[in-house]
Amino acid sequence: MNMKALKEVSLSENSSFRIGGLTKNFFEPVNQGEFLQSLEFCKINDHQPVIIGYGTNTLFPDYPDRNQWFISLKKMSGFYTNSNSRYPQSISLLAGTPLSVLAIIGSLVGVDLGFTYLLPGSIGGAVYMNARYMNEEISDIISNVYYVDSLKPEEGIKSIVARDCEFSYKYSVFQRSSKIIIAADISGVTIPDNDLSYNEATRDIMEDIRCNTLKICDIAKFSRVFIKYADRFSNYNSQKTFHEIFAYRNKYHHFDYPSAGSVFKNSRYLGQPIGQIIDQLGLKGKVCGNAMISPYHGNIIINNGNAKAKDVLLLIDEMKDKIFTEHNYEAELELKIIS
Ligand SMILES: Cc1cc2nc3c(=O)[nH]c(=O)nc-3n(C[C@H](O)[C@H](O)[C@H](O)COP(=O)(O)OP(=O)(O)OC[C@H]3O[C@@H](n4cnc5c(N)ncnc54)[C@H](O)[C@@H]3O)c2cc1C
Repeated sequence: MNMKALKEVSLSENSSFRIGGLTKNFFEPVNQGEFLQSLEFCKINDHQPVIIGYGTNTLFPDYPDRNQWFISLKKMSGFYTNSNSRYPQSISLLAGTPLSVLAIIGSLVGVDLGFTYLLPGSIGGAVYMNARYMNEEISDIISNVYYVDSLKPEEGIKSIVARDCEFSYKYSVFQRSSKIIIAADISGVTIPDNDLSYNEATRDIMEDIRCNTLKICDIAKFSRVFIKYADRFSNYNSQKTFHEIFAYRNKYHHFDYPSAGSVFKNSRYLGQPIGQIIDQLGLKGKVCGNAMISPYHGNIIINNGNAKAKDVLLLIDEMKDKIFTEHNYEAELELKIIS
């Protein structure tokens, strides 16, 4: 196999939580060939790999298991027009492309994809989680998903139409299968063929993303990479949304501390957002080691500096226990925990 595992990788640097120990079992493919090789390696050696996008919804262990393998897709980023697609109007984004790139492409071609602006993570992670902002979600704008089955990598790339992806609130079929997303078609976006300003702008953006790939796992740096585009595209239709989204995320200090976004999913059963419930239970600001339930948002745990996964897990247990005791409700984790 040509594809080599990276020697010693800090999972913390691959996570917006900035939590996670060192591993020697880490692949970072830069193209589909390398990706398939890394999957073949895991299959032959009987390892079920953990797939990572930008690690913005994942808690990694302090001491990773020696037999646990990780495949990061963040270097498989970019987009192209898919002329052979059954959906001729779509563009395709590779799984490692930051989701926020969509908002900017939308601005360039006059389609409002603004809800993806400053939504952390990758296209692959967003499809897997059915990421959403307010009442818009990624499944609204996806027509087709390309994947490889990690149990049968020799079968190569396959595709599945969006209506078969079982999308619902923060859920997709990928959460209960061995399918690994490698790209997705976005519907309703037509790319101008010979538009020089479009080509120039997108080339600059992708170059910027490539130079900043690792930084995108760092939530403060991620926001700086994308905030500058809000003004650069000031003539486009998503401009208002961009500034509104920035104001919303700023209000809850999303980019001021390392975190992995929401800990629990919301539920109709509770009748109000779970963050408010946690607030009413007096848990905001609760500390364990250097982890803290955000004083600004009850459903987010922040890393105040060198927090450990074990601290976060203790806080999660306490949140779950109190919610169950007071509301007779078993809170469902949104955060993906790698043990
Ligand atoms: C400050 C902050 C704010 C956030 N706000 C929101 C919000 O408003 N709305 C929202 O929905 N989310 C939000 N999130 C959570 C997060 O941004 C999303 O869940 C995002 O889609 C995760 O993408 P990722 O690439 O970082 O996934 P990761 O954290 O790397 O992975 C998440 C899960 O997806 C799986 N996965 C990743 N890529 C693939 C792939 N290619 N194929 C198969 N499985 C894959 C992983 O194995 C893991 O189980 C927020 C997070 C932060 C830190």
